[in-house]
Amino acid sequence: MMLSIDGLPPLREVINTHDLLAKKALGQNFLLDLNLTSKIARQAGDLKNSDVLEVGPGPGGLTRALLHQGARRVVAIEQDKRFLPALAEVSEHHGGKLEVLHGDALSIDPLAAMNAPVRIVSNLPYNVGTELLTRWLTPLEWPPLWQSLTLLFQKEVAQRIVAQPRTKAYGRLSILAQWRCNAKIIMEIPPAAFTPSPRVTSALVHLERLEKPRFKADAKTLTWVVAQAFGQRRKMLRSSLKGIATDLEDQLLAAEINPTQRAEEIELEQFCMLSELIRK
Ligand code: SAM
Repeated sequence: MMLSIDGLPPLREVINTHDLLAKKALGQNFLLDLNLTSKIARQAGDLKNSDVLEVGPGPGGLTRALLHQGARRVVAIEQDKRFLPALAEVSEHHGGKLEVLHGDALSIDPLAAMNAPVRIVSNLPYNVGTELLTRWLTPLEWPPLWQSLTLLFQKEVAQRIVAQPRTKAYGRLSILAQWRCNAKIIMEIPPAAFTPSPRVTSALVHLERLEKPRFKADAKTLTWVVAQAFGQRRKMLRSSLKGIATDLEDQLLAAEINPTQRAEEIELEQFCMLSELIRK
């Protein structure tokens, strides 16, 4: 049997042996090229001194790369139990450094039981990815337990994360990500890199947390204000934000926002100022 660089069987063989056909309903598009998964793992930072959290390891391509890069420990959450035997083999090969939790990442959160620095690295179904990203970015206290996020998204979502004001992609995710992190797109990944190939292009995003948010604001209020503002992004703020404060126009002016402006034109700092005024 031919072995891969990490001494384990090639992923296509793992998939055949364990009969792991991709399930569309679980958003399963696998990365089977260990050169590519290694490249992704290398973008996550220094893994040798980090605990890594991976959501959705599937057949384990990225998981193996993370371990091969020398991760101190990897905790992986997988919902589909078909992958557990193959992942157990990976864990055994790496002397138990890989711990696999069976469950839904939206309901279990092992972060509190991990040791800092924690780096989160995942190739997730996109709907779950956006929800988890929002949760990771909006805890009430900052800094969080994690140090960085290295995540694959549909290219359009990746562009929203790093978008600047006065662009179509600028919105809720741009504000929440850039408020508390340095966010950048590392590379695009074409559909052909996945098995089966999705219809869309993907992109790898890296977010490194800031020790302190860029501007003072309260996560709950900011999330709410931004959701209201971009919920009706074509409207002027004096109407899209109607009802969030009785003296809305005064508050907008105090935050250096013209009430006739639209959400898309407002800088992060103004949104933070506005949410502070509203909270008070
Ligand atoms: N990481 C693997 C790779 O790159 O080849 C698999 C990627 S595949 C896009 C997404 C994986 O996430 C699948 O294994 C799927 O079963 C798993 N998954 C989907 N929803 C999940 C959830 N809510 N919690 C945990 N795992 C989930």
